[in-house]
Amino acid sequence: MSSPVWHPFTQHGLKEPIPLVERAEGALLYCADGSTLIDGISSWWVTTHGHCHPRIAAAIAEQAGRLDQLIFAAHTHEPAETVARELVDLAPEGLTRVFFSDSGSTSVEVALKMALGYWHRRGEPRHRILVLEHGYHGDTIGAMSVGERGVFNRRYEPLLFDVGTIPFPAEGREQATLDALERACTAPDKPAAFIAEPLVLGAGGMLVYSAAVLTEMAAICRRHDVLWIADEVMTGWGRTGTLFAVEQAGVAPDILCVAKGLTGGALPLAATLASEPIFQAHWSNDRADMFYHSSSYTANPIACAAAKANTQIWREEDVLGRIGALARDIGDHLETLSAHPAFSNPRQLGTIAAVDLKTGDTGYLSDIAPALRAFFLERQLLLRPLGNILYVMPPYCTTNEQLDRLFGAIAEAGDRFG
Ligand code: PLP
Repeated sequence: MSSPVWHPFTQHGLKEPIPLVERAEGALLYCADGSTLIDGISSWWVTTHGHCHPRIAAAIAEQAGRLDQLIFAAHTHEPAETVARELVDLAPEGLTRVFFSDSGSTSVEVALKMALGYWHRRGEPRHRILVLEHGYHGDTIGAMSVGERGVFNRRYEPLLFDVGTIPFPAEGREQATLDALERACTAPDKPAAFIAEPLVLGAGGMLVYSAAVLTEMAAICRRHDVLWIADEVMTGWGRTGTLFAVEQAGVAPDILCVAKGLTGGALPLAATLASEPIFQAHWSNDRADMFYHSSSYTANPIACAAAKANTQIWREEDVLGRIGALARDIGDHLETLSAHPAFSNPRQLGTIAAVDLKTGDTGYLSDIAPALRAFFLERQLLLRPLGNILYVMPPYCTTNEQLDRLFGAIAEAGDRFG
């Protein structure tokens, strides 16, 4: 019998090869068939310092033998307390409260519920959410609702709520974005919040926009008393060259979503950070007004121990130095690749780099994507293009030789498919 496993974002009917990975170290995945893959996308943008980082692995092992799970309603434990304090300390000023959950999507659901709760308790109920065109925030119903409508969520459209979409601030079109946001914030149907991925839209196509626009967008929200939710699920933990991308715009959101690299990528854990007024709006002695959200594994102690080890690594090691060096190496490789006639629109922010393969076959459902995946797999590389958009987002320990192989194969793909 074939495997009973039903994989995410996988069309089993295509019968694509599904590598069986046995172990991992650094930027490498070791497969059962003896092959070794370079993880060019940090296993879905998750692994930051490298796979099986010894400090994180040791913290997980130690915590697993001490306290494995604890109901988090009105109970607490040291790793959660430490991580929450660390997050408040590391995050932009003004984010004073930390609500744990277990995936990026859930951190977004929590953010949306906090925003609605805030306006309700202020006696001014608001429901409308503004989103950025091409945004992606996860695959649960609320997260899909605030994401770009298209192939990822088309089938579930009847379950999704309406949002106001602000055009993406492409270079040269920034003013149109700002004007649209200003109009939406001042419309009679006052929005509760504006949610956006800061500086890079990930699943929407690794689309980069300027920090100056982000600064302006945040200012418009503040001016018109609309909450601003920064979804740093992908951009957080150094991906864009700073710990959080919003730092580059010099702005602090009202709500910040983090996940993926929060544990260095070793275990599922997410957090939604909120400003004090948002917490205080839910504070009273009336049980009807508490924040109605939980999941069984909220702030799981083992995941929190991994996150604690991650924040210690950030504190004690020169992670930003490592990211800077990797970003420079990626930049050099991207510059060489930019001269290749098969590619257009080279872009980079920190350790994220992308190019568009010039082809008539574009979009997430293009036939080129599975063909490219197979091409890279044959070369023992884990790269997973978004349609005709080829990108790298490797762990921070990736060597220049490993980058040579990743970018060499992308150039070769340009020769073959461009
Ligand atoms: N938000 C952003 C910006 C993401 O890139 C993702 C996942 O890629 C999510 C939310 C959803 O996170 P998760 O897959 O952990 O639910």
